[in-house]
Amino acid sequence: MAKHQFQTEVNQLLNLIVHSLYSHKEIFLRELISNSSDALDKMKYLTLTDEKFKELSFDPRIDVEFTEEGNEKTITVRDTGIGMNDTDLVESLGTIAKSGTREFLGQLTGDKRKDSNLIGQFGVGFYSVFMVADKAEVVTRKAGEEKAWKWVSDGQGEFEIAEAERDTQGTTVTLHLGEEGTEFASRWQIEQIVKKYSNHIAFPIFLHYTKTEYDDKGKEKGKTPTVEQINSAAALWKRPKSEITEEEYHEFFKTISHDTEDPLFYLHTQAEGTMEYTTLFYVPKHAPFDMYQVDYRPGVKLYVKRVFITDDDKELMPTYLRFVRGIIDSEDLPLNVSREILQQNRVMAKIRESSVKKILGEFARVAQEDPEKWLEFIEQYNRPLKEGLYSDFGNREQLLELVRFKSTKAEGWTSLAEYKERMLPDQKSIYYITGDNEETLRRSPLLEAYRNKDIEVLIMAQDVDELVIPMIGTYKETELKSVNRSDAGEDLKSEKDQKKDDELKPVIERMKKVLGENVKDVVTSVRLADSPSCIVVDESDPTMQMAQMMKAMGQKDLPEVKPILEINPDHAIVTRMKALEDDERFADAAFLLLDQALLVEGAPVKEPAEFVKRLNRVMETAL
Ligand code: ADP
Ligand code: MG
Repeated sequence: MAKHQFQTEVNQLLNLIVHSLYSHKEIFLRELISNSSDALDKMKYLTLTDEKFKELSFDPRIDVEFTEEGNEKTITVRDTGIGMNDTDLVESLGTIAKSGTREFLGQLTGDKRKDSNLIGQFGVGFYSVFMVADKAEVVTRKAGEEKAWKWVSDGQGEFEIAEAERDTQGTTVTLHLGEEGTEFASRWQIEQIVKKYSNHIAFPIFLHYTKTEYDDKGKEKGKTPTVEQINSAAALWKRPKSEITEEEYHEFFKTISHDTEDPLFYLHTQAEGTMEYTTLFYVPKHAPFDMYQVDYRPGVKLYVKRVFITDDDKELMPTYLRFVRGIIDSEDLPLNVSREILQQNRVMAKIRESSVKKILGEFARVAQEDPEKWLEFIEQYNRPLKEGLYSDFGNREQLLELVRFKSTKAEGWTSLAEYKERMLPDQKSIYYITGDNEETLRRSPLLEAYRNKDIEVLIMAQDVDELVIPMIGTYKETELKSVNRSDAGEDLKSEKDQKKDDELKPVIERMKKVLGENVKDVVTSVRLADSPSCIVVDESDPTMQMAQMMKAMGQKDLPEVKPILEINPDHAIVTRMKALEDDERFADAAFLLLDQALLVEGAPVKEPAEFVKRLNRVMETAL
């Protein structure tokens, strides 16, 4: 008998599971059955592809037993799956192999509903048994090996492993239920939980119980041990669409995704003809917790002729659709398809391509026919869709119709199509402003002239916008222009402005001299109304926010981006500067105009101490 310590993270997790999921204790059974189902999937695959196992008689099944009488109540889940050896046991039931544990722990909210959802998605499933059990025993034998092993733990920091007996390959998990778990040792409870969470597990689940028989007078006649299959065990996706109810679709989603909510929508395709395959895709109501982690878990499972192949292949979906859950079942792929083959496989590439088309088509349909649902979608998935604009060139046109933006004119979200409809008769471009905070952007002085001229500007505060939108260039022949950049002002220019420009020349020349290397240029602004100054960047430079972002990401040797200072010819400060003879006071004013423009943009001023000195000098003369 060898003692082992749980990895620190496991202890932490055990603590959290036991304490925060208290009201969702029943999921322990879902997790055990899902593990058995995974083990049977792997076993089935071996018997079909590995010479060593082809002769083996394999009866894939899951059996659930319980004892409800006597002092000790137990539940046992037994499978004929691939099993584990001692090394597997230590690795699987003593550590958390996946990285991202820390992030996961950090995301637990204390909200039990949300947390139980996360735990399922994260797949720390097995440890959930300690919500109901004082002690758990796992007796298991790995396919093709002689020895069997027993793993025992009370979930309190340690577990033990010893040699054991088991006739065939597979795993038996026995839970010694504590006070919190006794209620589950009942036929009714088990049946109900299995129906709720595991009805569509592809293998039969048998419940063992004792049937009590009564005679006509209601007197007990005797007890008969009974074994009864309690799930439907059919591959739902292979049944005709017309025969599947909405509820069954939703149930199946919960089985494969470990989600507890109904999906936002689903899409079932049974393709026949030159290529035969079935796909069933779901969009979860809430984005998967790891959507923004590099090591996110892919959500699409691959089957070949109903045999599970993999659920760990990120290539099955483009990255920007990583939140999609579901299955792909192909009739044309070979069973022993390896990952390498999969990646170059023509059949697979075709399935993937038409799946993406189908999914985007469904998105378009929902956006059109059910705008409210589409907004729910946008709240969760706008950002990954925007990534698609960048990475999926072939579908860019369609994606452009699907993404949504905030705007100075519309409440909530708006589409480019809607913007175009609202454009003024003589408006030349689609205008947008980028930055990292919606509220700051809405107050930006850059928007003043657009507001005065009643021109709509899209507010882009998501970090991807800055990278993605400039690449788009045009939407249906209309150019997209960033108001943060110098040339967007050109559109607003009139003859009157040209005159003002000439009048302001001397002040501008003087400011350029004073500000020197601090600016790229000083120009007359046509877009300011109330503010005296603003900054923009040159057409070819990255914007201020982008430069900051690149710096934050650790990029060094960035060429310094110098702002172009625009000044408002109609502002009182500027008109007074024309007549200002004192050089020192002129310099103070010039620097303050630059620094305040930086500040409203959310950019730091270059020399805060100098800024304060200047401000104080100006205040002294003013007061
Ligand atoms: P996950 O299922 O997401 O991997 P779990 O905590 O549910 O996480 O299970 C951990 C690991 O333990 C599994 O990946 C598997 O390797 C192993 N395991 C658990 N139950 C079984 C079983 N019944 N048969 C074989 N292996 C199992
Ligand atoms: Mg599991």
